[in-house]
Amino acid sequence: MLRRWWFMGALRPGMPAQRRWEPSKEEQQRVLDEWETARERLERLVSARVTAVGDVLRAAELPVGGGGPDAPRPGGDARDGRDYAWVLDAFQAAGKLLDEAADLPDLAAAAVLAERALVRFAALHARRAGQPAPRPPERCYYNPLHAAAESGGPPARKQHRQRARRRTGPREAAADRRPACPSCRKAILAGQQPDVLPALVPVKVSRLRTARLLVPYYSVPQQWSLWSVSACGAYGDEWPALVLRGEHRRRAAAARKA
Ligand SMILES: [Zn+2]
Repeated sequence: MLRRWWFMGALRPGMPAQRRWEPSKEEQQRVLDEWETARERLERLVSARVTAVGDVLRAAELPVGGGGPDAPRPGGDARDGRDYAWVLDAFQAAGKLLDEAADLPDLAAAAVLAERALVRFAALHARRAGQPAPRPPERCYYNPLHAAAESGGPPARKQHRQRARRRTGPREAAADRRPACPSCRKAILAGQQPDVLPALVPVKVSRLRTARLLVPYYSVPQQWSLWSVSACGAYGDEWPALVLRGEHRRRAAAARKA
């Protein structure tokens, strides 16, 4: 995603950065320029994805007891009703995140929530038609916009067991620690940094100075971001409601005040 990395060790709430590096004015500007370039590119990509999901949701109708997105659905059971409400909330939250994104993980979460809305909508359709619902893909933890992780679904679980049998060293253990797409997994196995989704955070680099640096999104303190613990909304169902209540804006404001 980025040509270079600008971060200092793992950030945890209340913990100072492990290595002190104070960027020059020019280096700080380069960080901000790289971030802006990444933001523009991601915004175009995610906007297209959210629009495409919206087109599918608008065009599709629920097969039994449906009658369009706004109609009551007497034929559906309680689970269908909950799932359908979640689909609509997740899609609405995706649009809100796209409009109000403060950082790259907000944009990634917009894409993740829109795509999860589509997957759940497809599952709802399948259930109504009496067919087995497709299993949602497991996302790459390092960058939830990547291809699906290798460890999702029964065939991959078998691969995982095979990997476990031939596991020999710390790199293999590191590669198995989190769901990873084939490319991130390959990087970890080669001892390289996977292509991680970055976030721009304030880091105190001296007593008087705070710089803004790019760090892996999952190392951002939770009080600054909804997305560090949820792989940008990939796990858990609570995120659409939190976004619709404006929680992402509240946490971004807390980061700005730091
Ligand atoms: Zn990946």
